[in-house]
Amino acid sequence: LTITLLAGGVGGAKAAEGIAASRYAKATQIIGNIADDDEFHGLWVSPDIDTLIYSLGDQIDRQQGWGRKNESHQVLNELAQLGQDTWMTLGDLDLATHIYRTELRKQGVRASHIVHRLAKRHGISMPILLPTDDVVQTRVRTESGVLSFQEYFVRERCQPTVTAVEYEGASIAKATSESLTQIAKSDVILIAPSNPIVSIGAILAVPGIREAIEKSNAYVIAISPLIGGKTIKGPADKMLTSMGKSNDSQGVYECYRSFLHGFVIDSADNEEAACLENQGLDVLVTPTLMNTTSEKSALLSQVIEFALANR
Ligand code: GDP
Ligand code: CA
Repeated sequence: LTITLLAGGVGGAKAAEGIAASRYAKATQIIGNIADDDEFHGLWVSPDIDTLIYSLGDQIDRQQGWGRKNESHQVLNELAQLGQDTWMTLGDLDLATHIYRTELRKQGVRASHIVHRLAKRHGISMPILLPTDDVVQTRVRTESGVLSFQEYFVRERCQPTVTAVEYEGASIAKATSESLTQIAKSDVILIAPSNPIVSIGAILAVPGIREAIEKSNAYVIAISPLIGGKTIKGPADKMLTSMGKSNDSQGVYECYRSFLHGFVIDSADNEEAACLENQGLDVLVTPTLMNTTSEKSALLSQVIEFALANR
């Protein structure tokens, strides 16, 4: 059995932890999102990948859902004293990751291999693949100009109205052979309850990835990141609206329409199931809010079993 999980940051990490704690751990590889990457203080920061690594390595700050636990901010405070912009919260332990990543990048080590080395440091056995080793960066067009994803998300707190989302560098990016091979041999491809536009959309924007999923014989199933039509956190609902899609399960489904077989929606959105089923989808309606490890592994096991039964 071969399973692939497409994952963004917080929602992606919850799904990854759920699989890691289930009987499907050894069968699974993750493809993560690199399009939120950006440079701060001369360092290359890869927020979604680090959220995956810190979560699976049990080093995450569980309250925040990102960053390291037992973190301090001495370096950032000093940078603020020096008059630097410090709206991007980077803790001292976290900075070691960014220093290491930046140094290896300078040496020409490919991004996938850097992730592999970081994952090893954190004792993670589930492989984390990258869609590409090239730089792809989400650009958010808003009424107040074009912003990087972190400027939009962290500095502006998702306030500006989004008019379009672009993936800079995507058209010339080369998909990694590891991710294409993994997709091609998968029995199940699972899309985490991540932002369908900036997390999963950015993975799918790397030429060859979407096509590989469409061509594969895998059963493709997504967990909706919306509960009662709203996100737990983050701008997925607002972004769906700005992209001209409805901010409900239907809007999420439309992002995945070309390859999706199964769709998992929350019990709170039960009334949307019939309409999705009428479009030919297998729909699983179940509580999808995951806080504890047992909730994560119970949901992910249930979803994978549903996929295997409907395959
Ligand atoms: P980010 O990169 O950190 O923004 O995280 P992702 O893109 O991976 O996930 C963001 C999405 O995860 C948001 O739209 C949330 O609504 C969704 N999400 C977070 N926790 C849960 C959960 O427990 N259940 C479900 N269904 N969605 C969740
Ligand atoms: Ca993200």
